[in-house]
Amino acid sequence: MSLKTVLFIISFLFSSLALAAENISVISSGALKIHTFHGISNSHLIETKNELHLIDAQMTFKHARQLKKYIDSVGKPLVQVILSHNHPDHWFGAEIFSSQTPIATTANITKDLKNGGYRYIKNLKKKLKDNMPDQVIKPDVELNLGQHNWDGLKVIVEEYAEQESHHSLVLKLPEHGIMIGQDLFYNEMFLVASDRNRNKHWVEILQNFSANEAKHYKTILVGHGKNSDPAVFTQDIKYLNALEATLAKGLTQQQTQQEMIKQFPEKGGKGMLAISMRNLFNPH
Ligand SMILES: [Zn+2]
Repeated sequence: MSLKTVLFIISFLFSSLALAAENISVISSGALKIHTFHGISNSHLIETKNELHLIDAQMTFKHARQLKKYIDSVGKPLVQVILSHNHPDHWFGAEIFSSQTPIATTANITKDLKNGGYRYIKNLKKKLKDNMPDQVIKPDVELNLGQHNWDGLKVIVEEYAEQESHHSLVLKLPEHGIMIGQDLFYNEMFLVASDRNRNKHWVEILQNFSANEAKHYKTILVGHGKNSDPAVFTQDIKYLNALEATLAKGLTQQQTQQEMIKQFPEKGGKGMLAISMRNLFNPH
């Protein structure tokens, strides 16, 4: 290998590490660390004293490989990859991990993957080509709801039905005041709200979080956007209520989309708004 090649490889490694570092935020609480990889969606890596647990696996193989490289650099064994729900931006990348690490989710989400997973593959294959799977991921482990102990860390797993997706997980770490809710929460991003009935139920869930013990969690880790706090509950309720009021006007798809941008000019993720509009106006 020539010196030039070696230098190229070194500079490539540094540039990809730099890229990974830009995409990652880390929070610490005592011995616990949570590394968040902000790709198309967020993946959260929970680091305990001896092991790692990953929540969600990115949409593209490219991002999943970047994430895997970062996880390898942490230097502890990855014991499981948990899938929070069946949307492709959270599970398409799971195949990058599945030969070495068990994939875990609940029975309901496994069913959602089986029922809806292939449609995402069909719809996205032209766009993502080899950067995505050909098969729907088959989880290896059924994740039970309730209390778990991960290497001394108390984790409460909850599941919520009919909101952003059909079923979605929330992981609470009560000793640290951290709640990981994935796409139940979007921070300063357009919510992918696909069904008006589900949106109403989603608002109820968020209202309950604002009123019940969930409000005591200081740190809320979201599926899209930066790490947040309980203010994200009211932020997302406000958006969903505004969306419903706008939909009730009976405007066209394009007018509704423009109206939402006008009302929430500061939000990111206009591509996700377009997906949301397509789903609301052309339900499959
Ligand atoms: Zn998502």
